[in-house]
Amino acid sequence: MATILDGKKVARDIESEIGEEVTGFVAKGLRPPHLVAVLVGEDGASKTYVSGKMKACEVVGYKSSLIKFDDNISENELLSVVDRLNTDEGVDGYIVQLPLPDHISVEKITDRIDPIKDVDGFTPANYGKIDMEHHSLLPATPMGIIELLERYKIETKGKHCVVVGKSHIVGMPMGILLAGPGDATVTICHIHTKNLAEHTQKADILVVAVGKPGLISGDMVKEGVVVVDVGTTRVPDASKKKGFALKGDVDFATVEPKASYITPVPGGVGPMTIASLIINTMIAYKKAMCL
Ligand code: NAD
Repeated sequence: MATILDGKKVARDIESEIGEEVTGFVAKGLRPPHLVAVLVGEDGASKTYVSGKMKACEVVGYKSSLIKFDDNISENELLSVVDRLNTDEGVDGYIVQLPLPDHISVEKITDRIDPIKDVDGFTPANYGKIDMEHHSLLPATPMGIIELLERYKIETKGKHCVVVGKSHIVGMPMGILLAGPGDATVTICHIHTKNLAEHTQKADILVVAVGKPGLISGDMVKEGVVVVDVGTTRVPDASKKKGFALKGDVDFATVEPKASYITPVPGGVGPMTIASLIINTMIAYKKAMCL
């Protein structure tokens, strides 16, 4: 039976560690760190993610602000919001929740965010530094996964890590972090990979970030594999109060019996992404306050 990589618990531990730091700073008369979330439109999943992030701020004692816009905000208007946040000295970090409506270029918005306040770690400047010793703010989800593996004392050095998915926000930076600081041998698979199972079966550590429930089944992994399931897809489920269930990319029922460690969905990677955001905001705050 696999050990569950309990992201929820680890995230709570991180929140309590950071909460103590915040209490110390505030006791010295300093202002608390301030995280801002920009939310465009009415996407239900985005609203849920943002409210989770705001809740975590409350738990650790950060100030948090939510700036909401209708779907019809123009690209220029959103760019000027970004400009304002860049120069607001009372804001340590901010996120622009994705996805954005089609008429707004994610690339243009991301390029405009000041890397010092980019607590999601999406800007080209922060992305370019992932493999550097003096990196600044790492992409939140891969950073959370590395933190989770470290807290469970799972070594990546010399391991064969297979990452499925090569998005800018998860798969690619995950591969770089594992191969760079993680000293692992990395295979990155994606939609055009032929014979996916041939690769996944060789994984000591398998990270799946695709968004296709059940893509990875038990016959696609070897005994003892460490499995990190990033996928979160809303699947209709009448038995749930909200009318849907969150499903990962890994078929838990057939993979878990072969795995040594596995993340659940929900309660695995999701809370760790939020914890990374909290850590990155503290890093940005300390820089801003010269601490
Ligand atoms: P994306 O859509 O940007 O990228 C998906 C990747 O999967 C692409 O690189 C594509 O080539 C690959 N892919 C698609 N079909 C495939 C197949 N059949 N075989 C192999 N590879 C295939 O997705 P993303 O933004 O990286 O998100 C992926 C999943 O992770 C989604 O379910 C998303 O909701 C979830 N996610 C979760 C968190 C979290 O904190 N838990 C954070 C970010 C994303």
